[in-house]
Amino acid sequence: MYIIMLGAPGSGKGTIGTEICKHYNLTHLATGDIFREEIKNQTELGKEAEKYISQGKLVPDEITIKLVEKQLDELDGAVLDGFPRTIEQASALDSYLNSKGKAITAVIDLNVPDEDLVVRTSSRVICSNKTCRAAYNTKFMPSKVEGVCDVCGSALIRRADDVPEIIRNRLKVYHEETEQLINYYREKELLEPIDINIYSETTREDTTAKTFNAIDKRIAE
Ligand code: ADP
Ligand code: ZN
Repeated sequence: MYIIMLGAPGSGKGTIGTEICKHYNLTHLATGDIFREEIKNQTELGKEAEKYISQGKLVPDEITIKLVEKQLDELDGAVLDGFPRTIEQASALDSYLNSKGKAITAVIDLNVPDEDLVVRTSSRVICSNKTCRAAYNTKFMPSKVEGVCDVCGSALIRRADDVPEIIRNRLKVYHEETEQLINYYREKELLEPIDINIYSETTREDTTAKTFNAIDKRIAE
Protein backbone atom coordinates (compact mmCIF):
# COMPACT_ATOMS: atom_id res chain seq x y z
CA MET A 1 0.00 0.00 0.00
CA TYR A 2 1.27 3.45 -0.94
CA ILE A 3 -0.22 6.53 0.71
CA ILE A 4 0.79 10.05 -0.31
CA MET A 5 0.59 12.96 2.12
CA LEU A 6 -0.10 16.29 0.46
CA GLY A 7 -0.35 19.56 2.32
CA ALA A 8 1.47 22.81 2.89
CA PRO A 9 4.43 23.15 5.28
CA GLY A 10 3.04 22.85 8.81
CA SER A 11 -0.19 21.13 7.73
CA GLY A 12 0.64 18.06 9.81
CA LYS A 13 1.86 15.67 7.11
CA GLY A 14 4.48 14.24 9.45
CA THR A 15 2.18 13.89 12.45
CA ILE A 16 -0.70 12.28 10.57
CA GLY A 17 1.74 10.29 8.40
CA THR A 18 3.19 8.76 11.56
CA GLU A 19 -0.30 7.77 12.77
CA ILE A 20 -1.04 6.11 9.41
CA CYS A 21 2.22 4.15 9.59
CA LYS A 22 1.42 2.83 13.06
CA HIS A 23 -2.16 1.91 12.18
CA TYR A 24 -1.48 0.20 8.84
CA ASN A 25 2.01 -0.99 9.64
CA LEU A 26 3.74 0.97 6.89
CA THR A 27 7.14 2.65 6.64
CA HIS A 28 7.32 6.43 6.86
CA LEU A 29 9.35 7.91 4.01
CA ALA A 30 9.79 11.61 4.70
CA THR A 31 12.09 13.32 2.21
CA GLY A 32 12.57 16.34 4.50
CA ASP A 33 13.75 14.07 7.35
CA ILE A 34 16.14 12.25 5.01
CA PHE A 35 17.60 15.54 3.76
CA ARG A 36 17.98 16.90 7.32
CA GLU A 37 19.84 13.74 8.37
CA GLU A 38 22.16 14.03 5.35
CA ILE A 39 22.78 17.69 6.20
CA LYS A 40 23.58 16.82 9.80
CA ASN A 41 26.11 14.26 8.59
CA GLN A 42 27.42 16.70 5.96
CA THR A 43 27.34 14.09 3.19
CA GLU A 44 27.67 15.17 -0.46
CA LEU A 45 23.89 14.88 -0.85
CA GLY A 46 23.38 16.83 2.37
CA LYS A 47 25.65 19.68 1.32
CA GLU A 48 23.88 19.95 -2.03
CA ALA A 49 20.38 19.80 -0.50
CA GLU A 50 21.25 22.38 2.14
CA LYS A 51 21.80 25.05 -0.51
CA TYR A 52 18.11 24.84 -1.42
CA ILE A 53 16.53 23.94 1.91
CA SER A 54 18.14 26.86 3.73
CA GLN A 55 16.35 29.19 1.30
CA GLY A 56 13.01 27.42 1.45
CA LYS A 57 13.43 26.25 -2.15
CA LEU A 58 12.85 22.77 -3.50
CA VAL A 59 15.78 20.42 -3.92
CA PRO A 60 16.06 19.70 -7.69
CA ASP A 61 13.80 16.92 -9.00
CA GLU A 62 16.67 14.85 -10.36
CA ILE A 63 18.31 14.52 -6.93
CA THR A 64 15.04 13.98 -5.09
CA ILE A 65 13.61 11.38 -7.47
CA LYS A 66 16.80 9.29 -7.41
CA LEU A 67 16.83 9.38 -3.62
CA VAL A 68 13.20 8.30 -3.27
CA GLU A 69 13.45 5.50 -5.83
CA LYS A 70 16.47 4.10 -4.01
CA GLN A 71 14.50 4.11 -0.74
CA LEU A 72 11.37 2.62 -2.33
CA ASP A 73 13.41 -0.27 -3.74
CA GLU A 74 13.89 -1.48 -0.17
CA LEU A 75 10.24 -1.22 0.79
CA ASP A 76 6.98 -2.96 0.13
CA GLY A 77 4.56 -0.10 0.73
CA ALA A 78 5.07 3.28 2.35
CA VAL A 79 3.61 6.55 3.51
CA LEU A 80 5.23 9.20 1.32
CA ASP A 81 5.51 12.41 3.30
CA GLY A 82 6.85 15.39 1.37
CA PHE A 83 7.11 13.56 -1.95
CA PRO A 84 6.00 14.16 -4.66
CA ARG A 85 6.15 17.96 -4.57
CA THR A 86 6.18 18.69 -8.31
CA ILE A 87 4.35 17.26 -11.33
CA GLU A 88 7.71 15.96 -12.54
CA GLN A 89 8.14 14.01 -9.30
CA ALA A 90 4.56 12.74 -9.44
CA SER A 91 4.95 11.33 -12.94
CA ALA A 92 8.30 9.78 -12.04
CA LEU A 93 6.57 8.08 -9.11
CA ASP A 94 3.77 6.84 -11.37
CA SER A 95 6.26 5.30 -13.80
CA TYR A 96 8.24 3.78 -10.97
CA LEU A 97 5.23 2.14 -9.30
CA ASN A 98 3.88 1.06 -12.67
CA SER A 99 7.12 -0.70 -13.52
CA LYS A 100 6.83 -2.63 -10.23
CA GLY A 101 3.16 -3.48 -10.83
CA LYS A 102 2.14 -1.33 -7.86
CA ALA A 103 -0.25 1.58 -7.41
CA ILE A 104 -1.09 4.47 -5.11
CA THR A 105 -3.90 3.65 -2.68
CA ALA A 106 -4.86 7.19 -1.66
CA VAL A 107 -3.59 10.76 -1.62
CA ILE A 108 -4.39 12.52 1.66
CA ASP A 109 -4.62 16.27 1.19
CA LEU A 110 -4.40 18.12 4.51
CA ASN A 111 -6.11 21.40 3.98
CA VAL A 112 -5.12 24.14 6.44
CA PRO A 113 -5.71 27.90 5.98
CA ASP A 114 -2.50 29.83 5.25
CA GLU A 115 -2.79 32.07 8.30
CA ASP A 116 -2.84 28.99 10.54
CA LEU A 117 0.20 27.54 8.79
CA VAL A 118 2.54 30.39 9.69
CA VAL A 119 1.50 30.16 13.36
CA ARG A 120 1.79 26.38 13.41
CA THR A 121 5.17 26.32 11.74
CA SER A 122 6.73 29.07 13.80
CA SER A 123 5.86 27.29 17.07
CA ARG A 124 6.85 23.82 15.89
CA VAL A 125 9.53 21.72 17.61
CA ILE A 126 10.70 18.24 16.62
CA CYS A 127 12.43 15.37 18.40
CA SER A 128 16.19 15.34 17.81
CA ASN A 129 16.27 11.53 17.78
CA LYS A 130 16.28 10.46 14.13
CA THR A 131 14.47 7.18 14.71
CA CYS A 132 11.69 9.05 16.54
CA ARG A 133 11.21 12.46 14.89
CA ALA A 134 7.96 13.14 16.78
CA ALA A 135 6.64 16.65 16.16
CA TYR A 136 5.15 19.00 18.74
CA ASN A 137 3.84 22.52 18.81
CA THR A 138 4.61 24.71 21.79
CA LYS A 139 1.24 26.46 21.35
CA PHE A 140 -1.16 23.80 20.13
CA MET A 141 0.36 20.42 20.83
CA PRO A 142 2.99 20.80 23.58
CA SER A 143 5.06 17.93 24.98
CA LYS A 144 4.30 16.95 28.60
CA VAL A 145 7.68 18.26 29.77
CA GLU A 146 8.91 21.35 27.97
CA GLY A 147 11.78 20.60 25.58
CA VAL A 148 11.58 16.82 26.10
CA CYS A 149 10.03 14.25 23.72
CA ASP A 150 7.03 12.35 25.22
CA VAL A 151 7.83 9.28 23.15
CA CYS A 152 11.58 8.77 23.66
CA GLY A 153 12.81 11.40 26.15
CA SER A 154 15.25 13.04 23.72
CA ALA A 155 15.65 16.81 23.43
CA LEU A 156 13.25 18.76 21.23
CA ILE A 157 14.79 21.10 18.68
CA ARG A 158 13.62 23.73 16.22
CA ARG A 159 14.13 23.24 12.50
CA ALA A 160 16.55 25.70 10.89
CA ASP A 161 13.99 26.45 8.16
CA ASP A 162 11.10 27.13 10.57
CA VAL A 163 11.77 30.87 10.70
CA PRO A 164 9.23 33.37 9.30
CA GLU A 165 11.22 34.48 6.25
CA ILE A 166 11.93 30.94 5.06
CA ILE A 167 8.43 29.75 6.01
CA ARG A 168 6.97 32.42 3.72
CA ASN A 169 9.12 31.20 0.87
CA ARG A 170 8.14 27.57 1.50
CA LEU A 171 4.47 28.60 1.38
CA LYS A 172 5.08 30.43 -1.89
CA VAL A 173 6.75 27.36 -3.39
CA TYR A 174 3.85 25.26 -2.14
CA HIS A 175 1.27 27.44 -3.88
CA GLU A 176 3.31 27.73 -7.07
CA GLU A 177 4.38 24.12 -7.48
CA THR A 178 3.00 21.58 -5.09
CA GLU A 179 -0.63 22.73 -5.13
CA GLN A 180 -0.83 21.61 -8.79
CA LEU A 181 -0.65 18.06 -7.50
CA ILE A 182 -4.11 18.44 -5.99
CA ASN A 183 -5.58 18.60 -9.49
CA TYR A 184 -3.24 15.95 -10.77
CA TYR A 185 -4.47 13.42 -8.21
CA ARG A 186 -8.08 14.61 -8.30
CA GLU A 187 -8.14 13.74 -11.99
CA LYS A 188 -6.77 10.31 -11.17
CA GLU A 189 -9.57 9.99 -8.57
CA LEU A 190 -7.09 9.37 -5.78
CA LEU A 191 -7.57 12.58 -3.80
CA GLU A 192 -8.96 12.51 -0.25
CA PRO A 193 -9.29 16.09 1.04
CA ILE A 194 -9.20 16.52 4.83
CA ASP A 195 -10.16 19.97 6.12
CA ILE A 196 -8.38 21.22 9.22
CA ASN A 197 -8.78 24.45 11.09
CA ILE A 198 -6.99 24.89 14.39
CA TYR A 199 -9.27 27.70 15.48
CA SER A 200 -12.35 25.58 14.95
CA GLU A 201 -10.66 23.05 17.22
CA THR A 202 -10.00 20.28 14.78
CA THR A 203 -7.95 17.99 16.97
CA ARG A 204 -5.24 15.60 15.95
CA GLU A 205 -7.65 12.77 16.84
CA ASP A 206 -10.36 14.19 14.52
CA THR A 207 -7.90 14.46 11.68
CA THR A 208 -6.51 11.00 12.29
CA ALA A 209 -10.00 9.46 12.38
CA LYS A 210 -11.07 11.22 9.18
CA THR A 211 -7.88 10.07 7.48
CA PHE A 212 -8.28 6.42 8.53
CA ASN A 213 -11.89 6.50 7.27
CA ALA A 214 -10.76 7.78 3.91
CA ILE A 215 -8.08 5.09 3.62
CA ASP A 216 -10.42 2.30 4.77
CA LYS A 217 -12.94 3.35 2.14
CA ARG A 218 -10.20 3.08 -0.53
CA ILE A 219 -9.06 -0.31 0.70
CA ALA A 220 -12.64 -1.61 0.56
CA GLU A 221 -13.11 -0.51 -3.07
P1 ADP B 1 7.65 21.08 5.23
O1 ADP B 1 6.55 20.36 4.50
O2 ADP B 1 7.29 21.48 6.61
O3 ADP B 1 8.21 22.24 4.45
P2 ADP B 1 9.67 18.92 4.82
O4 ADP B 1 10.42 18.36 5.95
O5 ADP B 1 8.76 18.03 4.06
O6 ADP B 1 8.89 20.14 5.46
O7 ADP B 1 10.69 19.59 3.76
C1 ADP B 1 11.68 20.49 4.14
C2 ADP B 1 12.46 20.97 2.94
O8 ADP B 1 13.11 19.88 2.30
C3 ADP B 1 11.62 21.61 1.84
O9 ADP B 1 11.39 22.99 2.07
C4 ADP B 1 12.50 21.36 0.60
O10 ADP B 1 13.56 22.30 0.53
C5 ADP B 1 13.11 20.01 0.89
N1 ADP B 1 12.29 18.91 0.30
C6 ADP B 1 11.59 17.98 0.97
N2 ADP B 1 10.93 17.13 0.13
C7 ADP B 1 11.23 17.56 -1.12
C8 ADP B 1 10.83 17.14 -2.44
N3 ADP B 1 10.00 16.10 -2.62
N4 ADP B 1 11.33 17.84 -3.49
C9 ADP B 1 12.15 18.88 -3.33
N5 ADP B 1 12.54 19.34 -2.12
C10 ADP B 1 12.10 18.70 -1.03
ZN1 ZN C 1 11.43 11.34 20.39
